Amino acid sequence: MQIGCHVSISGSIDKAVDNAVERECSSFQIFTRNPRGWNAKDLSENDITNFKEKLKTSKIDRFATCAHMPYLPNLSSPKEDGFEKSVNTLIDEVDRCVKLGIPYLVTHLGSHLGTGEDAGIKQLVKGLTRAGQTKNDVMILLENTAGQKNSVGSNFEQLGKIFNQLKPTKKFGICLDTCHAFVSGYDLRTEKSVNDTFANFDKFVGYDNLKILHLNDAKGEIGCNLDRHYHIGLGNIGEKGLSQVIKIVNNKKIPIILETPIDDVRNDFENIRKVKELV
Ligand code: ZN
Ligand code: MN
Ligand code: MN
Repeated sequence: MQIGCHVSISGSIDKAVDNAVERECSSFQIFTRNPRGWNAKDLSENDITNFKEKLKTSKIDRFATCAHMPYLPNLSSPKEDGFEKSVNTLIDEVDRCVKLGIPYLVTHLGSHLGTGEDAGIKQLVKGLTRAGQTKNDVMILLENTAGQKNSVGSNFEQLGKIFNQLKPTKKFGICLDTCHAFVSGYDLRTEKSVNDTFANFDKFVGYDNLKILHLNDAKGEIGCNLDRHYHIGLGNIGEKGLSQVIKIVNNKKIPIILETPIDDVRNDFENIRKVKELV
């Protein structure tokens, strides 16, 4: 099993590897820079060397690591300048992944801001396709969303429809988030409902395209569209369903990444332990 969590790069980017090792991760996710701003400082040669060295000496497989896009870009935006800035950020993040040797970049699909799904998808496909033309081995992973108002890509049929328009296909994959799927209305609480939900995912998106699983329990109820992650087994999805999810993705050798909160209830280390217990 490849299991880990989102880790902080605070201090310098190579600290992320220390944080992952300390939490007994065999996979991890990072932001390559501050996720809340538009501007990013260039990675220094030193940052790159240290990150790669530490990753090599850790026992973590490079192919179980990913980066997550910052929060501000909106690839489905109807506004010309916002859209341009978003696509440029995506291309820049791909480049940062190339430099760090990170194979996957997870991105949200954005909001059509009231212009409608078709308009949003048209922008999104245009933006992703542009980033897909860059010559490198980084794969951009489309993450299913929680289904907030005006958001694109919460339902598997729509996600598949978007994915199938992207070229070249080898540049794109999927990141499935269990909290987002659940609050979008996909039941994951029992063995049977998990099997049904994954069969539905397979039908529209395809198992082969799934490269990373974000394993999060949900604070909200099924179908509430509330993007609030919770500790493994303690939310509204629960242990039974999450165990079945783990079983399915482990069979397919897909790295699992936790994006669970850190609070008085549990920290990352304890949530990772919990997942290992559920296997
Ligand atoms: Zn995400
Ligand atoms: Mn996620
Ligand atoms: Mn989320």
